Amino acid sequence: MITGGAGFIGSHLCERFEGEGHEVVAIDNFITGSERNLHALRNSPRFTLLDHDISEPIQITGPVDYVLHFASPASPVDYLKYPIPTLKVGSLGTYHCLGLAKEKKTKFLLASTSEVYGDPQIHPQKEDYWGHVNPIGTRAVYDEAKRYAEAITMAYHRHHHLDTRIIRIFNTYGPRMRLDDGRVLPNFMGQALRGEPLTVYGDGSQTRSFCYVDDLVEGIARLMRKDYHLPVNLGNPDEVTILQFAEEIIRLTGGQNRIIHRPLPEDDPKLRQPDISLARRLLDWEPKVKRAEGLQKTLEYFSQLIQKQTVSVS
Ligand code: NAD
Ligand code: UDP
Repeated sequence: MITGGAGFIGSHLCERFEGEGHEVVAIDNFITGSERNLHALRNSPRFTLLDHDISEPIQITGPVDYVLHFASPASPVDYLKYPIPTLKVGSLGTYHCLGLAKEKKTKFLLASTSEVYGDPQIHPQKEDYWGHVNPIGTRAVYDEAKRYAEAITMAYHRHHHLDTRIIRIFNTYGPRMRLDDGRVLPNFMGQALRGEPLTVYGDGSQTRSFCYVDDLVEGIARLMRKDYHLPVNLGNPDEVTILQFAEEIIRLTGGQNRIIHRPLPEDDPKLRQPDISLARRLLDWEPKVKRAEGLQKTLEYFSQLIQKQTVSVS
């Protein structure tokens, strides 16, 4: 069972596990996801999609082997637009998934985030860093919901002996991101392809480290098979400033786009890079897809999407 299965990462997970022969039940309320992301699975007898808000209680008949909880708005633009649903899915949604896992005596994996480190004062970020989060800032609806989700997951593990996993995902990208989700990569690629200026927030010296979705999915699959219950960072340590990233995307699309600057959003983390030594050791895993290759694949996806949109408008 995969909550958030119609989202960007969730749909890749559904495909991976259905492809391995598992029965997959995706649960989604489509607040930021879409049934289109699951088009390839629509005729599979091993795949079921349930329209349900996981912040409401859920009952599933029959056995479940694994609950993967990926439901949550994930882009800053999305979670600032849906602050209360974001808090609810991180808290009540996680509670309901843990309750189901407990009832079914099954394993549980939480999709947490590098945002639990906030605007970090330790660089790169290691799992034992407690973070630097503004609990009443606008981003707190996401950061604190995920911190609570981690806390309740550990409580179910310690108190109910539930077999849990926690991953802290760092900026992941790839096909099936929404072009209008407001995150930096879809924004820059959409702007580059439409011949518009690229909007760099602040002076662009803030950094991020981008991981291609296939690498993330492989890391998740490996952790699911391990008996390890503390959080594990999954991401690509290949760090870049946002200004360099904008220039890279302009080069990649071969355009002549200008770069314009817009105000830096509140509490925007200045640096972000995962320390993945734990994942390397524990999972014998590290990202394989280089940024140039991952960006090229994602660009092809967005180019086709924009072409389709243009055809349907004209
Ligand atoms: P996404 O917005 O594409 O997917 C989220 C999915 O969850 C959507 O399909 C949405 O409709 C669904 N959803 C939201 N609230 C729900 C609810 N109450 N009930 C049922 N479904 C609900 O985002 P994504 O990038 O695929 O992120 C997936 C997960 O990974 C999220 O939990 C996010 O916090 C985590 N994550 C992602 C990244 C990243 O870089 N993409 C980084 C850190 C953490
Ligand atoms: N950003 C930007 N221009 C945009 C969108 C985002 O400069 O059009 C910046 C944003 O301020 C942040 C970084 O890019 O510093 C990554 O933003 P994103 O929304 O992708 O996710 P975050 O890592 O902040 O969760």
